[in-house]
Amino acid sequence: MFVYADNAATTKLSKKACAAYIKTAEEVFGNPSSLHSAGQRAKEVLEDCRMRIAKILGAEAREILFTSGGSESDNQAILSAARAGAKKGKRKIVSTAIEHHAVLHTLEKLKKEGFEVVLLPVGTEGIVRIEDAAREIDENTALVSVMLANNEIGTIQPVEEIGALCKKMGVPFHTDAVQAVGHIPVDVRTIGCDYLALSAHKFHGPKGVGALFIKRGAPLSSLIEGGAQERGKRAGTEDLPAIVAMTVALEEAVAEMDAVSLRLRGLQRELIEGLEKIPHCALNGDRTRRLPGNISFCFEGIEGESLLLLLDEMGICASSGSACTSGSLDPSHVLLAIGRVHDVAHGSLRLTLGRETTEEEVLYMIKCVPEVVERLRNMSPVWRDLQEGKRSYIL
Ligand SMILES: *Cc1c(COP(=O)(O)O)cnc(C)c1O
Repeated sequence: MFVYADNAATTKLSKKACAAYIKTAEEVFGNPSSLHSAGQRAKEVLEDCRMRIAKILGAEAREILFTSGGSESDNQAILSAARAGAKKGKRKIVSTAIEHHAVLHTLEKLKKEGFEVVLLPVGTEGIVRIEDAAREIDENTALVSVMLANNEIGTIQPVEEIGALCKKMGVPFHTDAVQAVGHIPVDVRTIGCDYLALSAHKFHGPKGVGALFIKRGAPLSSLIEGGAQERGKRAGTEDLPAIVAMTVALEEAVAEMDAVSLRLRGLQRELIEGLEKIPHCALNGDRTRRLPGNISFCFEGIEGESLLLLLDEMGICASSGSACTSGSLDPSHVLLAIGRVHDVAHGSLRLTLGRETTEEEVLYMIKCVPEVVERLRNMSPVWRDLQEGKRSYIL
């Protein structure tokens, strides 16, 4: 059996989006900046996509900028607001400890340029507290950046309350909505954000394309200099086939959202209940305030990396949700932020279901994961110490 349970990393391109990609590549090959008819046809298609994406987000077409994806959108929003703030003498940025690296590493860069970066903590359930945000946001704040939904543990943040707070304080608000768009309702006016980042490959669109919502009047500077595409805010000929495919994928995701999320909620509950039977484990993140397809666990006494390898042998594509790459033994910053100690954070597993996930696949995971956890524990010296009472259980 093959089970793809890593939809937070990327999703499969939808058939409709793929067909739209090919059709556009074949038929609308003009450069949208050209003045002749082929160019103008491309320009029309481009502006039609802008309007359709804006409509879904509750924005105006001119508030949508096409980019290469979530990382670029996050970078551009944060750098634009920070630079504009600095011009007014504002050098403080408030964000959270659980942001994606596209945000955290951009903030690191700004820190080196002299910005003060405050990362709000989260509770053990993985959600930012409004009181903490309220305490930090002040007249020196150039930007607040809080993600809509977390990519590792799926928790949904109180962005509307934070948006209201920012509005009251007159501080620009950016939200990384990459995990949310196409999966849960997202409306920029309801959130009250000035910037919102999205990425097509997280909702069955192509990779390498995304968008940034910038509220009319909010500062925007470009990351890429060159031609005057995208109102001079992002040089480079637009990837029209990818933009069309993204638009089709988003419309499809939104049309199916209610039905898909209802079904995923059921599968999520089933999988969580199935895995919770494993001794000494814990669900990461809030039980209900999370994305419908996200399941994240920590298992005591095992290494997440070995777990992934064994699951892969059984046909299950999963993720540890940790930034643990070869050579680096740092556990996930998100799991540390919710209070998991290093050893426990290393034994993590993220299963992210998608609209193609079947109940049969969920049942297969409920069978395989406990088997693999037991196998690994039987080989683990840490587990032996726990069982012999030489160490005490944390979970
Ligand atoms: C995937 C992801 C990104 C990065 O998006 P890319 O399009 O892959 O650059 C940023 N933020 C979050 C929360 C993500 O899940």
